[in-house]
Amino acid sequence: LFVNDDLGEGQSVPLSRDHAHYLFGVMRLTAGDRILLFNGRDGEVSARVVEAGKRGGTLLVEAVTKPLQMPPDLWLLFAPIKKARTDFIVEKAAEMGAARICPVATEFTNSERIRQDRLQAHAVEAAEQCGGTWVPEVAGLEKLDRVLDDWPADRQLMFCDEALVGEAASSSALTGGLGRGGDAPWAILIGPEGGFSDRERQRLRGFDFAHRVSLGPRILRADTAAVAALTLWQMQLGD
Ligand code: SAM
Repeated sequence: LFVNDDLGEGQSVPLSRDHAHYLFGVMRLTAGDRILLFNGRDGEVSARVVEAGKRGGTLLVEAVTKPLQMPPDLWLLFAPIKKARTDFIVEKAAEMGAARICPVATEFTNSERIRQDRLQAHAVEAAEQCGGTWVPEVAGLEKLDRVLDDWPADRQLMFCDEALVGEAASSSALTGGLGRGGDAPWAILIGPEGGFSDRERQRLRGFDFAHRVSLGPRILRADTAAVAALTLWQMQLGD
């Protein structure tokens, strides 16, 4: 269970109404039972239920069960699509260990608004379900051009470009440019359902940090492309 409180040994953790409902109403825990907690800072700890009520309760942190495991320094930039598919992308990126998830508005993005709090909650749920000790941060929606204007000097970008589909060298482009880039931090960029505009593609091609990558000979839906790209990155550069 994810909580915001500090989780040092002996720390008591007050429960919100929602958490109390989940632990005591749904999971049927009672005083004396134990539960695993994490807050994204202190690793995973085991805590004992001290007080169990309908509207609240208290846990007591007993011992660290897993140290904090930081994910690789990988960002996923993607153009938001339909709500359920955007949720899917955030959930899968959190499961696969992206450290930061950044929705970006491109020229052909049709969802101009996102619910950042909702997406962050999905990231928390995904981290809970896969036993993570860390929750990726979901950033607010920003224009791709702005993000590129302020691009950090050393970060490499895996630019997933659907225009490579059908080009003669597409299969070698699968991992082309990725190589083993030393310890440089990375980001992955996935476009919207309408793909990238010619102007965006030209701009991206002008940056040394951007490596055009094909995800194979078929055009994938953006949510599939995000999972494929995360898998490819993990295979080539992940740890
Ligand atoms: N409407 C575009 C077209 O027909 O060319 C397709 C866009 S695709 C549905 C959405 C995004 O997924 C693309 O912008 C790209 O980032 C990524 N993508 C999908 N298939 C890809 C592939 N085979 N290689 C590289 N990127 C791909």
